[in-house]
Amino acid sequence: QQMVQNALNGPKNNMSQGLQKKFQNPKLGANNNNGGGQAAKPSNTNVGSAKDEELPEELKGLNKDLIERIENDIVDNGAKITFDDIAGLDHAKRTVEESIIMPMKNPDLFSGLRSVPKGMLLFGPPGTGKTLIAKAISHESGATFFSISSSSLTSKWIGEGEALVRTLFAVARYRAPSVIFIDEVDSLLTARKSDENESSRKMKTEFLVAIDGAKEDENAGHVLFIGATNKPHEIDEAARRRFVKRLYVALPVEKDRAVLVRRLLTKNENTVTDKEIEKIAKKTEGYSGADLFNLLQDAAMGPVRQAQAKAAREGRDHSLISSKEVGPITYKHLRQALKSTSRTVSDEDLQVYVEWDKTYGSKD
Ligand code: ADP
Repeated sequence: QQMVQNALNGPKNNMSQGLQKKFQNPKLGANNNNGGGQAAKPSNTNVGSAKDEELPEELKGLNKDLIERIENDIVDNGAKITFDDIAGLDHAKRTVEESIIMPMKNPDLFSGLRSVPKGMLLFGPPGTGKTLIAKAISHESGATFFSISSSSLTSKWIGEGEALVRTLFAVARYRAPSVIFIDEVDSLLTARKSDENESSRKMKTEFLVAIDGAKEDENAGHVLFIGATNKPHEIDEAARRRFVKRLYVALPVEKDRAVLVRRLLTKNENTVTDKEIEKIAKKTEGYSGADLFNLLQDAAMGPVRQAQAKAAREGRDHSLISSKEVGPITYKHLRQALKSTSRTVSDEDLQVYVEWDKTYGSKD
């Protein structure tokens, strides 16, 4: 996935932008304002790692180790995604811009009746840009991005889930505006199963409580909770209610597939024309963004394979070829790649999303 982002965004990713806000060093804060609890927040000191120092007022009573691990493993300072990096999905982008970004940027305007939704669900097939949207929301609103998958909550954080959730929301409030992104949120907030163990049940309850808490606390700053799922139907009613916005992130349509293919092709030398890109877009009905990336990756290997075959014919070591021997990617390579790759989302799968969207999806 990282490779895809790099491919799509190029060097822009390396730009470090204003998300590096770390915990204050409380000692500095204390010196600056007579030890008051509301010391200036931004500083480059990570409180979690300063074991012998005190936690800021807002985080008192929480486990320092957990805070540190959240800082290291969950705060995502990676690729800075913008809405321009995301092809298509105009409806989702517009909705997000109006109902999330604008309020997060203008918190004073959006209080009381105009309050911001605190929970949003992005649902749809895998590889369609749900993670990208969450990252773009975070970046465009200048928020701290906390990112975690449900599977790591039940593996890596096993046994600590409940405390983690509480600490995570506290740290997010402290560093507000924040976005907490949970991938595969269905397995966390799934309808209760009989084999569910005590600790995952507790963690789920803690999540629901934390989301409600964030909603009620007007002074908490903006903490937006975003869940992504390919299985929206598995989320139970209590959890579903917390996601005020529920957006369908659908497969790219033909025009957007062309945009994606064109963008991916700019990363390597190629002779593919606009007309040929349009033909590829036509032939890839049902492909997700991630499927298209795989297709293009395969096509990009075409010229390398050709050069290897030539070296082998000439009796040379085919594992040692120079970049000069590798030609541009052509339409032929794309057509060959089409034969060896296929779409990963079936029409039946899609039907499920369309139905769920009709019943539960946000209309605006
Ligand atoms: P998911 O919906 O599973 O969260 P991701 O957002 O992680 O999918 O997308 C997987 C990869 O596919 C991305 O890193 C991106 O490169 C590509 N991709 C998918 N959809 C789009 C899109 N609409 N615009 C640009 N890239 C996309």
